[in-house]
Amino acid sequence: MSKIATIDPTTLINPDTGKAKINLLGMSKQQLIDFFASIDEKKFRATQVMKWIYQYGVGDFFTMTNLSKKLQQKLDEVACVVPPKVKFKQFSEDGTRKWIFEVTGGSLVETVLIPADDNKQFGRKTLCISSQVGCALDCSFCSTGKQGFERDLTASEIIGQLWVANQSYMEDVPVTERENRVTNVVMMGMGEPLLNYRPVVASMSLMLDDHAFGMSKRRVTLSTSGVVPRMYQLAKDIDVALAISLHAPNDELRNKLVPINKKYPLAELIEVAKYYVYETNPRHKKHVTIEYVMLAGVNDSDEHAKQLVNLLDGLPSKINLIPFNPFPHAPYGRSSNNRIHAFSNILNQAGFVSTIRQTRGDDIDAACGQLVGQVADRTKRSQKWQEMVTKKQKQLVAN
Ligand code: SAH
Ligand code: SF4
Repeated sequence: MSKIATIDPTTLINPDTGKAKINLLGMSKQQLIDFFASIDEKKFRATQVMKWIYQYGVGDFFTMTNLSKKLQQKLDEVACVVPPKVKFKQFSEDGTRKWIFEVTGGSLVETVLIPADDNKQFGRKTLCISSQVGCALDCSFCSTGKQGFERDLTASEIIGQLWVANQSYMEDVPVTERENRVTNVVMMGMGEPLLNYRPVVASMSLMLDDHAFGMSKRRVTLSTSGVVPRMYQLAKDIDVALAISLHAPNDELRNKLVPINKKYPLAELIEVAKYYVYETNPRHKKHVTIEYVMLAGVNDSDEHAKQLVNLLDGLPSKINLIPFNPFPHAPYGRSSNNRIHAFSNILNQAGFVSTIRQTRGDDIDAACGQLVGQVADRTKRSQKWQEMVTKKQKQLVAN
């Protein structure tokens, strides 16, 4: 076994040298190549190690059997593969899995995995990933926004969420028979991904990279509230699916709900959305997903639906109606099911595909945009759980 001493959740110190080990998790292929060059090793080691890490969920160099003993030892001295620390996890009978990660500095972020309705072993599994602790954009209906901004997550903290989720299906599976089970990723947890641009793009690149997770680009979705210049940049840098958190069909209302609209109003947002669909990869017929949270009496009238139809004219889009998830002191209520269906019908009659997101308590939207309350709640629970574990340990020691 490797000798390592933990000083915080993600940094490891080599006790012999006293030096911090380099975390390979979250490094791009080029960064890994550079790393191997820096320790006088050949380029191909980068892809070898990448496969172990991302395809077999292996972080222990001594398990990487196609590396020589000498190289395993050398890597163990200077490097490590460390995801953020799992503070709490909950696996439900229906297949939903939730994790609370404690990132360096003690902040908590939550990640949620939702299986398709049939919960088949190899069926669709969507992971909702966080990109920041808190969020600076302060949308009026979002509990993450109410928390304010704490800090950006690093690439290892972002990709680590996916790594841990996949690993959770690998326990007890022989290393060579392991495979990743998460089929879809949505950047819809805490934070505005485009305001943590580089680590987010680096992480999504690893999701797509065939030597890493090798996911389909249509199954990796970035959700943004509309940071327009970064959307143009994104279109140049990476080909992933795009979701736009629209929530209002006119500037007056959107300024109130999504304050970044004052900086980048709807006309600019729709223009960049069209650019994303038509300019980036015109041969692939693409669309954007429009997210629209249904707030009773605020943005859910027939008139709003008609305005939305006009606004989205000429933009290939699928509209996802999200029943509002209440949180303490939220100044909104959830639209009735009848209202949501009436709204949806207007969109469908105008030729759009609109879907209504389910709102089971364990559904993904209970997590997305709802992370603060859940984290606080789970933290209390995790505290209780830890107290319980400590008590048990004490009992064991006493016995
Ligand atoms: N910051 C990004 C991604 C994270 S939010 C964005 O805004 O797109 C993920 C999704 O959850 C967004 O569409 C957001 O508007 C939505 N959301 C936030 N709070 C919500 C709530 N209380 N009920 C339902 N959806 C919510
Ligand atoms: Fe931030 Fe998205 Fe919440 Fe708005 S909806 S506050 S952008 S996380």
